Amino acid sequence: MNYDMRSMRAEEFINDEEIRETLRYASDHKDDLKLIDKILEKAKMRKGLNHREASVLLACDNEIRVKDIYDLAEQIKKDFYGNRIVLFAPLYLSNYCINGCLYCPYHLKNKNIPRRKLTQEEVAREVTALQDMGHKRLAIESGEDPVNNPLEYILDCIKTIYSIKHKNGAIRRINVNIAATTVDDYRRLRDAAIGTYILFQETYNKTEYERLHPTGPKHDYAWHTEAMDRAMEGGIDDVGIGVLFGLDNYDYEFAALLMHAEHLEAVHGVGPHTISVPRVKKADDIDPGDFDNSLSDEMFCKIAACIRIAVPYTGMIISTRETPKVREKIIRLGVSQISGGSRTSVGGYCEEERPHDTEQFDVSDNRTLDEVVNWLMRAGYIPSFCTACYREGRTGDRFMELCKSGQIQNCCHPNALMTLKEYLIDYAAPDTAKIGNALIEKEIGSIPNEQVRKTVCQRLEKIAAGERDFRF
Ligand code: SF4
Ligand code: SF4
Repeated sequence: MNYDMRSMRAEEFINDEEIRETLRYASDHKDDLKLIDKILEKAKMRKGLNHREASVLLACDNEIRVKDIYDLAEQIKKDFYGNRIVLFAPLYLSNYCINGCLYCPYHLKNKNIPRRKLTQEEVAREVTALQDMGHKRLAIESGEDPVNNPLEYILDCIKTIYSIKHKNGAIRRINVNIAATTVDDYRRLRDAAIGTYILFQETYNKTEYERLHPTGPKHDYAWHTEAMDRAMEGGIDDVGIGVLFGLDNYDYEFAALLMHAEHLEAVHGVGPHTISVPRVKKADDIDPGDFDNSLSDEMFCKIAACIRIAVPYTGMIISTRETPKVREKIIRLGVSQISGGSRTSVGGYCEEERPHDTEQFDVSDNRTLDEVVNWLMRAGYIPSFCTACYREGRTGDRFMELCKSGQIQNCCHPNALMTLKEYLIDYAAPDTAKIGNALIEKEIGSIPNEQVRKTVCQRLEKIAAGERDFRF
């Protein structure tokens, strides 16, 4: 099979030979400082890099150049995303699953784990609990099981979630992370007004993929890898890709991830909306030590920096799988969205204590959402609960156009301030509110456009008086 980024066949756009050739090229040129400087110069234009160029940067271990890579990633992050971090929470709907994924406790053969699926009443209770924390944006998660969790069930859950308006709360954007499906099903998800459709590839290495997914529909590499094309054909503009780092060699996954982004851009005119960077974690029946490709915190951060440089316009997501220390470093290097106060079990938000028996993975950051918000502000970031874009029809290429021209900043920054204000009034602890109000005061002054600044001030007053949900 030949490499063809425009092909609709998985093995052609994620071509094993091309990846191996890329890794050889990267290894041969990792000390070629002239080439590395040329690549860094190109990256400074903020137009991104292709998978070969980015792979050379990832392979480079020259101390000075590695520092240049980190500095540039940090600068690009500042230029495109400012100091804002968007917050979200996962909501686990069901852990019934017919797949045999070796790295996930929900795999069919795991008899230790209690199986649970939320009823619509339970969904409503979970959403109420999430709204009481202050969340506005959810990522719903479910195992694959056409009998227990058919698409109709997912659609019912979406309807329930959007319908719950508890006190001043509302879930304004639902991202959906469910198994690969048909164009028709994607169309139905689009019609249900979802935000991003998220599907992790887990590993792009076909042989490893098939070994790690021995049974169930997910075993089909092509069906899974071509899912984003079907999603886009079904009218979903924003898709989120990712790999589970630690399953196969990180450099292989890194090159393939970027090839996937290049393929989506070449075929659909718009690359992935987000890239997630999860790592294999401990869970019931799962020991990360069984996967011998685990990577150091340092390499993990370098991957994030190289992704930031290679695809400046793509949001990057990190979950509570990571410790606060790693989250702090990686946020600086390019992450734009993080989860906060997460419970990775079915029904977890309604329990007093974080339940462990149905968790998909061990959470390393156990702080509450308010603690995360407080920590972000102390570290110099603006926590944002913004969900404006898809609600304003800014999706797919319309979003990318604004993003590439830098105009999106005019929306993100004021929206962050207004949604933070809502959070401070409705949910924050006194100390968080104090820090947050001072931060908003300071940030208003940095809104460049006078008219926008005036409008934001007026809207902040209206929020203080009880109105909600303003957006640019
Ligand atoms: S990773 Fe997803 S598909 Fe695989 S066993 Fe877990 S829930 Fe099922
Ligand atoms: S304005 Fe759009 S891109 Fe910016 S934070 Fe809000 S939803 Fe995200």
